[in-house]
Amino acid sequence: MKQYPSIFNDVIGPVMVGPSSSHTAASVRIGNVIRQLTKAEGPLSVSFEFDKNSSLASTYSTQGVDQGLAAGLIGMQTHQKKIMQGLELAKQAGLKIFFNIKDIGPDHPNAYHVLVQRKGKEDIRLKALSTGGGMFEIAELQYFPVSITGGFFEILIITSTPLRPKSKQCLEGLGEVTETFGKRGILYNIKSQTPFKEIPIIDFDEMYTLSPVLSIASQLRPNVPFATVEEVIKYNIENLQLWELACIYESIRSGLSKEKVLDKMGDIIDLLIESLDKHMDNDIAGRILQSQSKNIIGKNILGGSLIENIIYYVTRFMEIKSANGIFVAAPTAGSCGCVAGTVFALAKEYELSKIDMAKSMLAAGLIGVFIAYLSTFSAEVCGCQAECGAASGMCAAACAHVLGLDAEKSIAAASMALQNVFGMVCDPVANRVEVPCLGKNIMGAMNALSSVNMAAAGFDQVIPLDETIKAMDAVGKSLPMELRCTGLGGLSITPTAQRIKVELT
Ligand code: SF4
Repeated sequence: MKQYPSIFNDVIGPVMVGPSSSHTAASVRIGNVIRQLTKAEGPLSVSFEFDKNSSLASTYSTQGVDQGLAAGLIGMQTHQKKIMQGLELAKQAGLKIFFNIKDIGPDHPNAYHVLVQRKGKEDIRLKALSTGGGMFEIAELQYFPVSITGGFFEILIITSTPLRPKSKQCLEGLGEVTETFGKRGILYNIKSQTPFKEIPIIDFDEMYTLSPVLSIASQLRPNVPFATVEEVIKYNIENLQLWELACIYESIRSGLSKEKVLDKMGDIIDLLIESLDKHMDNDIAGRILQSQSKNIIGKNILGGSLIENIIYYVTRFMEIKSANGIFVAAPTAGSCGCVAGTVFALAKEYELSKIDMAKSMLAAGLIGVFIAYLSTFSAEVCGCQAECGAASGMCAAACAHVLGLDAEKSIAAASMALQNVFGMVCDPVANRVEVPCLGKNIMGAMNALSSVNMAAAGFDQVIPLDETIKAMDAVGKSLPMELRCTGLGGLSITPTAQRIKVELT
């Protein structure tokens, strides 16, 4: 079932703690699903295996995969402060957690192979994928192919023989049923938007129940009017602004009213204001960079106060992330500074109201929907162009709102910004999401600023955004795996990076 991205789940979200959305936040959510599958009954032993050539093999201990999984296994959520102490807390709760790097063979670059052992109970085997920006999929359960993405209430029943028609009918009354045949028999997967009132009494070998772990629940058949640029342009005969189109999309996708969608983005602005106010950058243990943001204030720089403020705010949000403060992945943790930092700088420069900041973020969010629908936010799949590159395209739309551009020009600005970032690789130093990540966030903001001014001046985008995104996806997938967040190429393998890695170990 093709899922339509949600602005708050996939694009401007999750609200989180930790260095990486595709590693820390997705791991918390995967851990949460495993906790539900086991009904949190201990004592548990959970083994995670990663292929030796995967991104997870090199990043699981430096980008919070291990802490996130442990935190999820004990029921923590992505925004909780203690996530980065997950391993210690899980140990105190009696869980045994193991990580192994093996030669598993060609696979998704962010695949988790999991074995759960419980005393006196059936072992559980599953394969989970982190799909970018904190999103995930359980792709296999007990050797059956499944697609559990955390947005539905689900029942999974495994039987060795087919259910009787009456029992099957019972299940169909609960939600959408899929039937999968495998070597252990038949798996019936029931997905529902609402909690199950009662679980039918039928014969089964194994049964699992799940509740949503995402902040916006999924809908079985959301009737979204557009998910691509071509569709939105056809739809927009009333010449609505991009933020209004974002409200319409998310309202239908989420079931929230349009007013609630705007309010929810306002809540995110409040959360970011609070994080900026509260968070001192004094947690520098295990980091490459000490606080940089203060260095830019009041310096004689080219470009004036707007540029100074953009560099300051983008850096502040990246520092909050690195210091384990609460922030919003937009679209990912590694790129969390670009859009939010630019919107805060524009707000300071042009005295924007909170509501205008929220509208700018929604305009950015809709561009993110198009990118997520046609491509990915996963650097492990498409390099940094899918993180800081995507953020730059989104940021151009946020800037376009402040400049008062219409939807078509805003989308053109996003297309021009994305065209400028093709081929951007992911090569973090010492597997930390700090260097060159900070500079790429700032570059993404500057690229957005140039692109929006080009769009405002009537420059021709030439390649429409849909085509740009598809081309960017193809370029990303053709990057060698060494340049897709594995720490095996680019800056990651320079002598200085190697030295820093040793020093931080
Ligand atoms: S280089 Fe880009 S994609 Fe890679 S970790 Fe840094 S921000 Fe993320």
